[in-house]
Amino acid sequence: MPPRMTDPNRSLLTLRGLDAGTLTALLDRTESLLGVVQSGAHPPQVDAGAMVGLLFLENSTRTRCSFEAAVHRLGHHPVSLTGQGSSVGKGESLSDTAANIAAMGMQALVVRTSLSGGAAQVARITGIPTINAGDGRHEHPTQGLLDASTLRASLGSLEGKRILIVGDILNSRVARSNMHALTALGATVVLVGPPSLAPWTFAEGGPRIEVSHDLDAVLESADAVMMLRIQLERDAGRSVSSDYRAAFGMTSSRASQLREGVPVLHPGPINRGVELDDDVAADIARCLVLEQVTRGVAARMAILEWVLNSRELN
Ligand code: ASP
Repeated sequence: MPPRMTDPNRSLLTLRGLDAGTLTALLDRTESLLGVVQSGAHPPQVDAGAMVGLLFLENSTRTRCSFEAAVHRLGHHPVSLTGQGSSVGKGESLSDTAANIAAMGMQALVVRTSLSGGAAQVARITGIPTINAGDGRHEHPTQGLLDASTLRASLGSLEGKRILIVGDILNSRVARSNMHALTALGATVVLVGPPSLAPWTFAEGGPRIEVSHDLDAVLESADAVMMLRIQLERDAGRSVSSDYRAAFGMTSSRASQLREGVPVLHPGPINRGVELDDDVAADIARCLVLEQVTRGVAARMAILEWVLNSRELN
């Protein structure tokens, strides 16, 4: 078999600058792969057998397992490294770690790191296609895609829709990737949180980005609401007062004020009783967190196909 040719320009490091056509093609492919994920089948394997290095140097549950599932479903081979138990604990740098794993003959890398810009650094140093699986506060592009996929399926289209993103916007890579994708697809994004975590400066990010510090004032206008966790590991706890839940939590009473059919999303992990009340999380007609997870596998398959050059986007 001839060696697989991959193209480092096919890295997915950010959703910033991806146009509506490219995003829509990825979402369409995600939609068709969703059936494969739900049925437990494997798609016809036209181009299987790539080695994909999964470098997860920061904690992860959903992203890591769903990338691994996506790699398997496409008939490729994951080679997994986590921060714990690796030489990162001996002080090895991200660049050296990635270069060593790449030297084992990987065709692509998936990188999670606490370093903002770390995935781009890996792509540059290794010269092989790299997927950003969350880099510090910067971006989480595959989460942005799976969220857009979930929202599009629930709302029909994102054009003209108002999506609230509520919580720790400042420290959230999920918020940043969603802002790029959702506005490119025609939605308005309203960033909601206390001024310390949702500063006005975010509104300068584009014509369809708004900021609000009053969740109750914007609740009724929402077509969908995405709740975010306070990123304690990024020291965000210091900017949050004890009445956070009362002001910004999706409590049962707030959920009952949402218009009929308005979905609630959360990228996980959920802090129950803080950003999401138990009974809101349990309301599967409204709260789409597990659908997000299922779509995450399909979205990551779609990205892997593109990155590994097995498929063009059209
Ligand atoms: N799982 C998401 C992330 O890695 C969201 C979070 O951790 O709050 O960014």
